[in-house]
Amino acid sequence: MKPLALCLVSICILVRGVESAQAGRTDEPLDIYWIDVEGGAATLIVTPMGESVLIDTGNPGHRDPDRIVQTAAREAGLRQLDHVIITHYHSDHFGGAATLATMLPIKHLHDNGIFEGIVDRPDKSYLECKAGKRSVISPGDFIALEPLAGENSPRLRLQCLGTRQRYIAPPPGEPANPGCADFKPKPIDTTDNANSVVTLLSFGPFRFFDAGDLTWNLEKELVCPADRVGKVDVYQASHHGMDASNNPLLIRALATTVAVINNGTTKGCDPLMFATLKETPSVQAIYQVHRNLRTDGSPNAEDEYIANAAQACKASFLKLSVDPTGTTFTMSVPSTGHSRTYRTH
Ligand SMILES: [Zn+2]
Repeated sequence: MKPLALCLVSICILVRGVESAQAGRTDEPLDIYWIDVEGGAATLIVTPMGESVLIDTGNPGHRDPDRIVQTAAREAGLRQLDHVIITHYHSDHFGGAATLATMLPIKHLHDNGIFEGIVDRPDKSYLECKAGKRSVISPGDFIALEPLAGENSPRLRLQCLGTRQRYIAPPPGEPANPGCADFKPKPIDTTDNANSVVTLLSFGPFRFFDAGDLTWNLEKELVCPADRVGKVDVYQASHHGMDASNNPLLIRALATTVAVINNGTTKGCDPLMFATLKETPSVQAIYQVHRNLRTDGSPNAEDEYIANAAQACKASFLKLSVDPTGTTFTMSVPSTGHSRTYRTH
């Protein structure tokens, strides 16, 4: 970019920041980007106040941090990441953090810390990763986000529903979930997937659920004996859409309208998960970060709902924008020109 153009972009970003602080941004959408990190996870939330939360940081090396910075800076106009949440210590989730922190300042890093019974330890570069502040996240915690100005503005909240295999209590009076009686367990997950941080973002009536790579038996804990989550509008398919996760008991309880699968070309987007989504009456659409290129007949969403179709891809993202009142949200796939608006629950 030429120096003048760079300067103009900087001024624009600066002006946007100043304007937003003054106006309280009650007229701005809430945006979520699913950045293509090739079967890892990097979900970027930008609030109407211009604050940012990145859930997971993709893989080690430069490819994924580069992609995150490009989306954050170019698309969202960010100059820092206000919060980064690491769901668990597998390299497709925490691996990009240390490099990312050298490219875009991380103000506050939230993770599981070094806890009793830890099975998969993060490496030294992650433990020494530069961040303004580090916190251990626990069930029930809220990430401190600036509220919207104006008494009629939608309430914005990002809560940790559970982590390290402990979860918040169901709402008082929540009835027993009759589906729990039919639960069939899978072998106990002894990896750190089981310790994944589960988050729920809400903006007025809009609700988005992200459980990292939480697996089958623990997903049941979220909705049995009584449902701790409630309905959501958007479900990020757990564990890249693998069948070791995506327990139908959870998916039925969430009654999501849209599912987003952050799969890779040969990772995730498994048949049982896909069938479960298709059989869930509330689900209106399934989006994928990548086309599933396995040759075993594995499923795929319709072409226009897939951000990247080929192995050699341009790393296109999926984008969601919730309108300023929280009553509708629009999913877009910039690479295919797809855009569709849904009503929140
Ligand atoms: Zn993963």
